[in-house]
Amino acid sequence: YYMSDSIERNISAMREEQRKLELAIRKLQELEKQQKQFIGNISHEFKTPLTAIKAYIELLSMYRDDPKLTDEAIESMGKETERLYEMVDKVLRLAALEKYDFEQQAETVRLDELLHDLGSRMRGKAAKFDLTLRVEAEPAAVWADRESLIHIFVNLIDNAIKYNAPGGTITVRARNRGSFAEIEVEDTGIGIPGEAQVNVFEPFYTVNKDRSRQSGGTGLGLPLAKRLTEAQGGTIELAASSAAGTLFRVRLPARERRSGRLE
Ligand code: ADP
Repeated sequence: YYMSDSIERNISAMREEQRKLELAIRKLQELEKQQKQFIGNISHEFKTPLTAIKAYIELLSMYRDDPKLTDEAIESMGKETERLYEMVDKVLRLAALEKYDFEQQAETVRLDELLHDLGSRMRGKAAKFDLTLRVEAEPAAVWADRESLIHIFVNLIDNAIKYNAPGGTITVRARNRGSFAEIEVEDTGIGIPGEAQVNVFEPFYTVNKDRSRQSGGTGLGLPLAKRLTEAQGGTIELAASSAAGTLFRVRLPARERRSGRLE
């Protein structure tokens, strides 16, 4: 009786191990698929601006005496080049995260000061689009990589500017929640339709390709912001979005919780 009982237990333990292995294999296959898809997307997304630039160069070489066409071609090539630059920059940053050593980069960062600095730096850009940028930040210190924080919030504020409506506002709030700091970037813009909300953190995803491209978008801003936030032990979510605007929320471990990750 005892013997068969222990055999039974062994068998069920083995089954459990087998189940875990199968799960791990499936996860790896999924990751491999995502990686292949990412590389496929990169090739496609890089070729689009390059093809456009190539075509403009041909046009220019044929019609170099036409000043109107020359102006147009130069402006378009400038835009495409800028977008390509942004894309290369973001893909390289994503790749660099593979061997990113958070503890090496981390320091105590006064979040409120950082956000007020960013606010001052980006207020001019917001004003160009007839937008008001407000920063309401409680004193809060986080254990984080300053450069990554800047990227995360520049990306969120940039989007809040790009997808806003004239006369609108962007509000950046930071609150001290004890073990973590909570930062919200809220805009009064066009919003993200319900069915698109689950996809905005996927690489190269854009709701409206034209609007995104017009404003130099790459579809890599939010995926990069997400990976950077998670590398700091934090979380990022699309908290709310409607035709009245969008709210992104970031949570970062407070200064005291050096090695803790947020649940
Ligand atoms: P992009 O470079 O195209 O802005 P992101 O990864 O930053 O790429 O964002 C992905 C998509 O999510 C955008 O193309 C846009 O459609 C949507 N989006 C992001 N932020 C906002 C926002 N604040 N308001 C409305 N739509 C947004």
